[in-house]
Amino acid sequence: TIVAKQVSKSFGKKEVLSNIDLTINKGEIYGLIGPSGSGKTTLVKILVGMDSDFSGEVNVLNRTMPNMTSLSSIGYIAQSDALYPELTGEENLQFFASLYQLKKKERKERIMYAAELVQLTPHLSKKVMAYSGGMKRRLSLAITLIHNPEILVLDEPTVGIDPELRLSIWEELFRLKKEGKTIVVTTHVMDEAEKCDRLAMVREGKIITSGSPVQLKQQYEVSNLEDVFVKAG
Ligand code: ATP
Repeated sequence: TIVAKQVSKSFGKKEVLSNIDLTINKGEIYGLIGPSGSGKTTLVKILVGMDSDFSGEVNVLNRTMPNMTSLSSIGYIAQSDALYPELTGEENLQFFASLYQLKKKERKERIMYAAELVQLTPHLSKKVMAYSGGMKRRLSLAITLIHNPEILVLDEPTVGIDPELRLSIWEELFRLKKEGKTIVVTTHVMDEAEKCDRLAMVREGKIITSGSPVQLKQQYEVSNLEDVFVKAG
């Protein structure tokens, strides 16, 4: 579904991604794991077509990025939320829903479905500027789900979200995966890395190792992914 070949990127003289190769298959949850500053956000922006200033190649759904067909199949949540603080949660959802060609009834259903999923229904009439950080992340996730995209790319979706809701968001990701969606998620939380089908560990702009959590632990003969990261690096 997503293939990156020899993707490199520099800011000025500083190379922040170097020769990234990866293949993300349909229907899997793929994790990009690494510390702050390792290049995850930069890579994700390239994968979703928001940055075309790089060398190498990215294909999404068998087409070179960026192209309209692939773009419309991707739901992307950036690390910082792009919400309208003066509008209520519901108005934000309505606004983003209006960008898609949905019938009125369908639009309303998608909004209700998305809000319910992230447990924001009771807060929809509040202005977003009164939302907590976690509520804003949940609203961003809901917005991403409105157009029912085939691929979801989530940059640190659970930052600032309490553990209970974090679990419920993961349950939702598993459910979306069962529907056949492809999910790319960045995180620096190893607990979350464990939940991915496959993952790539990123350090200083390079993929230092990749595989399923079980495979990686076997390969490096350790019992947790944190130790894989230490040994692989
Ligand atoms: P975080 O989770 O903190 O966002 P990250 O792994 O996503 O970390 P990136 O945000 O991709 O990391 O940043 C990778 C490197 O690129 C960092 O060293 C960062 O300082 C640098 N960088 C990112 N954006 C720019 C920019 N616009 N100009 C210059 N350097 C940048």
